[in-house]
Amino acid sequence: MREKCGIFAAKTENAGRKTYYALIALQHRGQESAGISIWRNKVKTIKGLGLVSEVFKRRRLGQLRSNLAIGHVRYSTSGALNEAQPLEASCCGKHIAIAHNGTLTNFLPLRREYEKKDIGIKFSHSIDSELLGISFLWHLKETGDEFEAMKNVFTEVRGAYSVAFLFEGKIIIARDPVGFRPLSYGLGDGYYFASEDSALRMFNLKIRDVRPGEVFLVDEDVESKVLAREKRAHCVFEYIYFARPDSTLNGVNVYRARYRMGVELAREDDFKGDVVIAVPDSGRAAAIGYSHESGIPYEEGLIKNRYIGRTFIMPGQFYRELKVRLKLSPVRDVISDRRVILVDDSIVRGTTMRRIVSLLKGAGAKEVHVRIASPPIKYPCYMGIDIPTRHELIAAWKSVEEIRKSIGADSLHYLSVEGLKRAVGINELCIACLTGEYPEWAFRF
Ligand code: SF4
Repeated sequence: MREKCGIFAAKTENAGRKTYYALIALQHRGQESAGISIWRNKVKTIKGLGLVSEVFKRRRLGQLRSNLAIGHVRYSTSGALNEAQPLEASCCGKHIAIAHNGTLTNFLPLRREYEKKDIGIKFSHSIDSELLGISFLWHLKETGDEFEAMKNVFTEVRGAYSVAFLFEGKIIIARDPVGFRPLSYGLGDGYYFASEDSALRMFNLKIRDVRPGEVFLVDEDVESKVLAREKRAHCVFEYIYFARPDSTLNGVNVYRARYRMGVELAREDDFKGDVVIAVPDSGRAAAIGYSHESGIPYEEGLIKNRYIGRTFIMPGQFYRELKVRLKLSPVRDVISDRRVILVDDSIVRGTTMRRIVSLLKGAGAKEVHVRIASPPIKYPCYMGIDIPTRHELIAAWKSVEEIRKSIGADSLHYLSVEGLKRAVGINELCIACLTGEYPEWAFRF
């Protein structure tokens, strides 16, 4: 499972360069491409495939001089540069740069409607983000007012979108009315916005969440309005896996939420093993919570190779096994001859977990008991997270006992939906990939 994007926007001194540093802080939200658009009497965009540090070398950084900028990191399935963001689009005599995190649920029918309008709109990209910009410019032409235009966008466009537009020396920032994807606002020596507040902290700002349905217009000054109110549905997987542990989303610190998932997991479990270990780094906070609650000591039983990066792996079973061994190495002294409780955040296809269990048993573990700090993932996501098809999700087709057998564990336990909700501590969550109950607003079209 991968988050598809992270966004940033700022109006401040050296906004272009600051966007570069902020995108590095958001790199975990997308590693396939990065881009920055600045305003210098017109929109200028520099983007490319790869990590932020690969796309923006010293010479390119020199081209980012501007006090107004938006930026984007993206995980893209196609990897086409055409789809790297910020995207530029034109409509109604205006030109706009778009940085979007999320996925639109009514993209295709709405795009067809726009194409039928016969108003000379030419879509030049295949991805949904362009439609957001076109919808905004179209309604801006109709209403002549940025806030009125965004109000119409909220009425018309469904799905997940935290979005930044740059045009005519202004920035518009908006978060969809249910608040699927996170977005934070920082006020200090200028105006800053980022997918996660951890990307704002280095700038010494007063920070708060952008509210669902809230729109900011950054022109000479900043003005904000909440233009739509719907039942909120914050993506629970931001807490389980995607967001940085040092981020606070919708008032809840991600590390604390993960720690409490481990606490709840231990409360639902009566097994007493010898040692608790984590799949690094995704399972660590929950493993520590599990250990503290159960009283079973936590130790580092798997060491992650941080330098594997994009190492090319040859096809075939032997090399797939080798990849896991390159990535994760067991600490034999910690696990040998012990009943190991192995904690991770989730199981998607089950293949990685099967290899890790086998790795631990090969290194001498007496028993391996897998504990998962979230409920089984059974349904796809249509709101911006790259979850494999239902066919590939192991929990969509197998019972917990069948999954246990398939991964070779001695026992397997998942956190309950109720335990997860208690751990995050807010009720307004999207948990559709766990329960199949999709937030109504996203599909009301
Ligand atoms: S379906 Fe799952 S991954 Fe998608 S937004 Fe909802 S909670 Fe997040």
